[in-house]
Amino acid sequence: MAGIYLHIPFCKQACHYCDFHFSTLLQHRAPMIGALVRELELRADYLPEKKISSIYLGGGTPSLLDEAELHRLFDAIYRFFAVEEGAEITLEANPDDLSLYYLNMLAESPVNRLSIGIQSFREEDLRLMNRAHSAEEARKCLRMAREAGFESLTADLIYGLPGLTDADWVANLDQLLAMDLPHFSAYGLTVEPKTALHKMVRTGKVQVATDADQQRQFDLLMDMASARGYLHYEISNFAKPGKEAVHNSSYWHGAPYLGIGPSAHSFNGHSRQWNVANNARYLAALEKGEIPAEVEQLTPYDRFNERILTALRTSAGLSLSQLETDFGADWLQHLHAALGDVDAEWYQLQADRLVLTRAGRHFADRIASELFILADDDEPNA
Ligand code: SF4
Repeated sequence: MAGIYLHIPFCKQACHYCDFHFSTLLQHRAPMIGALVRELELRADYLPEKKISSIYLGGGTPSLLDEAELHRLFDAIYRFFAVEEGAEITLEANPDDLSLYYLNMLAESPVNRLSIGIQSFREEDLRLMNRAHSAEEARKCLRMAREAGFESLTADLIYGLPGLTDADWVANLDQLLAMDLPHFSAYGLTVEPKTALHKMVRTGKVQVATDADQQRQFDLLMDMASARGYLHYEISNFAKPGKEAVHNSSYWHGAPYLGIGPSAHSFNGHSRQWNVANNARYLAALEKGEIPAEVEQLTPYDRFNERILTALRTSAGLSLSQLETDFGADWLQHLHAALGDVDAEWYQLQADRLVLTRAGRHFADRIASELFILADDDEPNA
C-alpha cells in the first residue's frame, strides 16, 4: 500500500490563517506542471513498491488546474507508476472553482473523490478568513458535485473562529450534516506564526477563541457527528462506516508515500524527505534534473514517537503487541511507565490497544508527547 501526494502550489489569494506553501503568481503554472511531471519521472523508483492505492492532489489549490494540466499530470502518474484498479484519487477543491462545467470535466478524469474547502457557511467567517468564495457558493458546489456524479465527497469546516458562537457552530454543522456526505473533516483554528491572522491577533484586531471555547465546540462536533451515524475515526476526521479516507489513513498507519512538488514531504519506510518550499528554487532544480530536498534518516526514537503520535489520534488506537514486536519489550515497558503520568480518564487499555477516551481526545497531542522517548533518555536502549 503506497500513495502519491502532489502539491499544487498556487492560490488565487492568501487565506488569513494559512501557513501552507503557495504562490498567487498564477502565470507560473505552466513551467510548474512541467517540473511536477519531471519529478514524477525522476522519482519513479522512490517507493518500495510500485503499486499505488491512493493519489491526492492537494495544495495550494488543485482546482485551479485546467483539463490539459490535469491530463499531463495523470498521464505522467500512469506512465511511471502502477495505479491499482479502484485507487482513491482525491482532488482538493475550493467552492469558487467548482462550476458544473468544471465538475463534469473532473468526473471524466481519473479523479473519483473531491475534498472541498468549505470552512464555514457564514459570510462573516469567510470574509474574516479571506476565503475566495461565498457561503452560497459553498452550499451550491456540494449539490453540483453530486449532480456531476461524485459520490465520494468530503468537506472541511473550522471551529474556534473569532466570533463564532456555539450556536453559529451548531448551525454550520447542521448545514453540513444535512448534506449527508460520506466523510468530513473539522479542525480547531490554530494561529500560525507569520500569517495575517497572527498579526490581526497581535494587534488586537480580532480575539481568538479560548481553549474552553474550542473544547466546547469540539464536544458539540463529536455529539452531532455521532448522532448522524459518523465514526470519529481520527481526531479531525469523521466518516460513515466504510467511507474512511484511504490516503490519509495510510499516513496514520505508517504506509510509504511519495510527495511531489514544492514543500511536499515523502516517506519510504526508513527516511523522510521534504522538498524546498519555494517555487523558483524548485523549478530551477528540476530544470537541472535535481530533486531539491532535504533527507532525514529516521532513528528508532523518531519512529517510536511518530507511531504514538499518529496512532493515538485514531479511534483504533495504538497496538501494544505490534509496538513490542517492532521496538522490543523495553520500549513497551517505558510506555507503561510513562502512562502513569497521564490522567487515567484520558485513556483506556482495551486488550492489546491503548485508546484515548472522549475526554482524552481533547488532548491527543499532549498525551502523545508524555509518552515520547527522547534520544537522551536513559531507558530504553535503542
Ligand atoms: S486556499 Fe487553501 S492553501 Fe490556499 S491560502 Fe487558502 S487555505 Fe491556504
